[in-house]
Amino acid sequence: MIRNIFITTILLLFCTINAQARIDIVYPSANQATINAPSTYITGNTNKNASLTINSEKVKLWEGGIFVYNVPLEYGINKIKIKSIHSGIRENRVIIIKRNKPSAKTIAKTPAYKQNTLGVLYAKTINDNSTVREKPSKSSQRVIDLPSNVILYLDGQQGEYYKIQEKGNRQFWIHKSNITTPVALAKRITPQIKNIKFYTDKKYEYYKFYLTHPVLYTLNQQGKSINLTMYGVKNEKGEDNYTYTINFDSPILGYDCYYEDNNLIFRKAKLPDFINISSPLQGIKIFVDAGHGGTEKGTTGPDRVYEKNINLDIAKNLIRMLKEAGSDVTYSRITDKNVGLRERVKTAKDNNVLISISIHNNSLPYGGNPYLTHGTEVHYYNENAKDLSLIIKTNLAKDLNIKDNGIHKSSFALTRQTNPVSVLVEAAYMQYPEEYIKLKNPQFRKEIAKSIKKSLEEYILSLNKQI
Ligand SMILES: [Zn+2]
Repeated sequence: MIRNIFITTILLLFCTINAQARIDIVYPSANQATINAPSTYITGNTNKNASLTINSEKVKLWEGGIFVYNVPLEYGINKIKIKSIHSGIRENRVIIIKRNKPSAKTIAKTPAYKQNTLGVLYAKTINDNSTVREKPSKSSQRVIDLPSNVILYLDGQQGEYYKIQEKGNRQFWIHKSNITTPVALAKRITPQIKNIKFYTDKKYEYYKFYLTHPVLYTLNQQGKSINLTMYGVKNEKGEDNYTYTINFDSPILGYDCYYEDNNLIFRKAKLPDFINISSPLQGIKIFVDAGHGGTEKGTTGPDRVYEKNINLDIAKNLIRMLKEAGSDVTYSRITDKNVGLRERVKTAKDNNVLISISIHNNSLPYGGNPYLTHGTEVHYYNENAKDLSLIIKTNLAKDLNIKDNGIHKSSFALTRQTNPVSVLVEAAYMQYPEEYIKLKNPQFRKEIAKSIKKSLEEYILSLNKQI
């Protein structure tokens, strides 16, 4: 008997819980969060027939019971009361968000710059991907990633960064973990160019600079010209840096520099030999990257669909469509798995692809308003990817009939490369209900892929016209 009562109680409890109007808060993810912004968005889902209020205001429920709402935040503790009523059952949730008053600006102690007392110091890079930056800080702009064994002369130190001694308009800094222990040198050895050789193969045009030792260099594209500056190398006039300008008569696609022993090789991808007007993607090498994957979920939609899965489906559609169009396609993943950023970039490069396209969907910035910030956007970093970004963005906005949120110059692992031409697509926003509902629709994801494929065709055809 006692046992029966116990079972009945459990059953009753279970039924009650089941019939309740559940509230699932997706963002903010913690019950108690600190958000130092004038407002925050709240996303989640409840019973699709429920009536939902947040701080006593009626909140629109979208398809499937999802909600996205923006609430203002006062300084101090904000109690946000969420109430869901369904079939006479009500559920209440309170989330507490703390907003701190801006404290008197604590100026981060910048370590003082110290000039070397021993004069010019000498060091060598010890890592491949030794990043040279414009300022002595990790957040500062990257200038170039040098390989190991590049000789650097240093004239001072600030915190953990050494200042590279090069004359010119720019400053160069390198973190101490990227170089050998700097040592004093009686006299700086001046590097020299012994010879320059030009050659080509099927894929690239090459310029090989025979140097006495590897040096810091920068690459700068201006329209159809590339300026390659080798620092510390005397030019014909006996000045400090040697800038070699290469003018091309066709659009600049992928280009980069690498060292082979002491010799610096610049290469530029050739345009396709032949562009088939009726089938422009025929034979074009394209890398398709589905953003995130595995434990890297990307952003989460209001009913817990992960960005990684939406990206993957768009990418798989695109891969299929490009293959059907005759492209030679490589990719980072076609399953749900973790792939490192460096690995993605390396796969694209090792396969000598002409174009790299990374597929993402956007998340709202901290304190952002989903009803103001949404739409489609394309990111690029280098000038050689700007035209393609513009074509993709314009077509996506038009074909998907969503807000045009522009193209953006962004330093991401998947956009920083000059070789291949690299773009990153943020097709739509995961926190904007209208776009998120569309993203959950497989047909819409196909439309995204179709639009990107069309843009790639237009881009290849545009190259043909410019030759
Ligand atoms: Zn993403």
